[in-house]
Amino acid sequence: MKKKEKETAKELLDFIKRSPSAFHAVANIKEMLNTAGFEELCEEQSWKIKAGGRYFTTRNDSSVIAFAIPEEEFTNFQIVAAHSDSPSFKVKENAEMFIDGNYVELNVEKYGGMICAPWFDRPLSLAGRAMVKTEKGIESRLVNFDRDFCMIPNVAIHMNRQINEGYKYSPQKDMIPLIGGESAKGKFEQVVADELKVKKEDILSKDLFLYNRMEGSFWGVDEEFISAPKLDDLQCAFSGMKALLSAENPKSILVCAVFDNEEVGSLTKQGADSTLLYDVLRRITNALGKTEEEYMMAVAGSFMLSADNAHAVHPHHMDKADPTNRPHMNKGIVIKYNANQKYTTDAVSAAVLKEILDRAEIPHQSYVNNSDIAGGSTLGNISNAHVSLNTVDIGLAQLAMHSPYETAGALDTDHMIRGIKAFYDTHITKEKSTYILD
Ligand code: ZN
Repeated sequence: MKKKEKETAKELLDFIKRSPSAFHAVANIKEMLNTAGFEELCEEQSWKIKAGGRYFTTRNDSSVIAFAIPEEEFTNFQIVAAHSDSPSFKVKENAEMFIDGNYVELNVEKYGGMICAPWFDRPLSLAGRAMVKTEKGIESRLVNFDRDFCMIPNVAIHMNRQINEGYKYSPQKDMIPLIGGESAKGKFEQVVADELKVKKEDILSKDLFLYNRMEGSFWGVDEEFISAPKLDDLQCAFSGMKALLSAENPKSILVCAVFDNEEVGSLTKQGADSTLLYDVLRRITNALGKTEEEYMMAVAGSFMLSADNAHAVHPHHMDKADPTNRPHMNKGIVIKYNANQKYTTDAVSAAVLKEILDRAEIPHQSYVNNSDIAGGSTLGNISNAHVSLNTVDIGLAQLAMHSPYETAGALDTDHMIRGIKAFYDTHITKEKSTYILD
């Protein structure tokens, strides 16, 4: 593997390590953007935007949209969308449970659809945000325990001889993390307060999630694979933002949107099914003094990549994949197709992206569901209900999607960053039914 590609993959693994919740992922993206000179705009304040400027805004501290304005008059938007959240377990209110006089456990509930088995018998921790009473008001603060804090213990095989013959996990019975023995009784809220260095009574509420403590790794004969938590979809979120930092387009407003709540259907105030993207695009055009007509014209000529990871062919379950569209790790960007339009890709959007990738010599491949297996859903078609534009669904091939430790190709983050940069750097225009790339 070339040094540059390995460095990029290492950078991704470091980003993931520092992003144990969607709030942390967005905080790290903000840091990347600030360092690169992007200016933060608050949704609740008036926006002043100028040609050549680079900006970002966040909603709920868990979604972020960054954008770059060209020096010349803009004609359209070229957008990349990814998501910041991953399946996990959320700590419930009044979470502490005292069991059999000797165990303290945390009551949790599922967030999204995860593979349950790999959450067992490994060190887990907690991260998210808490609302803290201060002299000024109620402040949102990041929390990350950043230590081995809890464990979901399996029941011994002697007490469940059927464990290897298929087991239906009960979220309320089986998926409950153990946090301590008798001495831990009544301490959980204090532990959270200690992590935040505030008084227990000043914590008004919190959104805390479990995460896998195992760090990302390179493995395989040639270290050709990487494994880490949250590759879906931090691999695409990271790639989109990295590409934006170095992208240049003389006539398009370049946008990278990372939305929260994809794993629970996107229908939240900060999800892809909210007004967030629409609001941001409207406010950009308003701040640049454009008319309603000019906004409509810009959207009609715009283009979006909905970037969310894809399933690689599984070596033991090759029949789950489509017979003629068989994505593999390290083989480039996956373009996803679905006749029922769960994926937005159509002949137009696929053609435009393929041409851009071919010109930049970036490998690409295709994914279509095996017709007997319903696939997942993603951001593109949901976002299109609010801002409708030519869109193509893409991703990187990975194994074990929605496990707390997923596997992907060590070369592919580099493919995605270069692919998105090539898309950003190409000005796409439309004349009647012809698309012009320059
Ligand atoms: Zn995803």
